[in-house]
Amino acid sequence: MARHVEIAGAGIGGLTAAAAFAQRGWSVRVHERAAELRDIGVGTTIWANGHRVLAAIGALDEVLARGNRISRLELFDHTNTMLRGDNFPPGELQGTVALRVDLHQALVNAARRSGVEIILSSPAMAAEPEGVLITEGGARHEADLVIGTDGYNSRVRDSLGLASHVGFVTDAHIGRVIIPRVGPAEPGAIREYWGPTRCCGVLSCGEQEYMFLSGSENCPLAPDEVANSTVAHAAWIAEFPHLAEHFSRIGTNVIWGRYPIVRCTSWSAGRVAILGDSAHGMPSTLAQGAGCAMANALALAEMATSSADIATMLPEWEARERPVTEITQRWAVLYLTLLKRWPNDLLDMRAAMTAEAFASPGLVRHLTTAARHVVG
Ligand SMILES: Cc1cc2nc3c(=O)[nH]c(=O)nc-3n(C[C@H](O)[C@H](O)[C@H](O)COP(=O)(O)OP(=O)(O)OC[C@H]3O[C@@H](n4cnc5c(N)ncnc54)[C@H](O)[C@@H]3O)c2cc1C
Repeated sequence: MARHVEIAGAGIGGLTAAAAFAQRGWSVRVHERAAELRDIGVGTTIWANGHRVLAAIGALDEVLARGNRISRLELFDHTNTMLRGDNFPPGELQGTVALRVDLHQALVNAARRSGVEIILSSPAMAAEPEGVLITEGGARHEADLVIGTDGYNSRVRDSLGLASHVGFVTDAHIGRVIIPRVGPAEPGAIREYWGPTRCCGVLSCGEQEYMFLSGSENCPLAPDEVANSTVAHAAWIAEFPHLAEHFSRIGTNVIWGRYPIVRCTSWSAGRVAILGDSAHGMPSTLAQGAGCAMANALALAEMATSSADIATMLPEWEARERPVTEITQRWAVLYLTLLKRWPNDLLDMRAAMTAEAFASPGLVRHLTTAARHVVG
């Protein structure tokens, strides 16, 4: 008889796990808290590790058909001088920018094609190490393996007391917004701008452009920016005059959030595993939260399928995958901390150090640890 897995959360990690387990002969049921399967309409960057996982579960073509291949990455300092400019050779699939709704839909399609059962409006409340997922109303779902991919505020994680730290790295906010494209589409480029007190990025995303926006700790955003889902246009344009036209296209559709950090004492208890933001939420500075979630989900499916003893296998899975995720998490935190807490009177020094750092192959190897990681 097929072994059975119960999964809490139909987000990026949960759906990847669902498809990967079902494709290996498991019966799979996913419980999603929301009443519909949907993600938010902002951009997301998928690096090489994410591509490999999407290919393995049969979702890559659908994502690539809607996303933009990244052909160039640029970083500019507070004087709008380029600190970094990397070309990715044509044909080499290093990164893609896609709308999260499209990535999510491709994962839903892959899971459904593989025979996964998805139950909506079914919030997970807790899990038990013996392999039980408890949903709202007290229903108990027994399984060979339970997976908690229920995000930053994970009930599964908290019911098992696995978290050592759940919080935010800084007080700064990050905003994400899709704006209509003006002018011809350009080959996928990521342009990141570090202003004196704020930073932002512009990414090609199909027929649209995706911008991320962030204040620093010594320059909190105006309260009404976050409250009204918008930007204080004059303040941003003063800092980035060359992007005035981009800011003029931003309305009241900015999704503001924070930079999460989740650390756990363990990623499992008995026959329950956690992964994704519930286990290792990280700031978006390296754009690897989803990539790590997908890679850890695929690795879990591979190892569980070839193991008869799930409770013994889970610590082995964690020992294999956790170092890559934690290095990535540490660099994402360091990168963010330097950016958000840097003194305003030392910006020239920040620029010089950053240019030197990105010219160092050793540092670039650290920053791309997750992207280079091959599961299995
Ligand atoms: C500003 C920002 C930008 C980012 N940019 C990138 C990027 O460019 N590239 C990248 O790789 N990562 C990026 N990330 C990180 C990425 O979004 C997350 O790491 C990724 O979504 C984690 O996947 P997950 O499955 O763990 O959680 P989620 O995708 O959040 O999914 C969790 C799911 O669980 C559901 N749920 C919650 N509670 C319950 C419950 N009790 N019961 C059942 N279901 C529940 C939720 O409704 C949701 O569907 C970014 C994050 C932020 C905040």
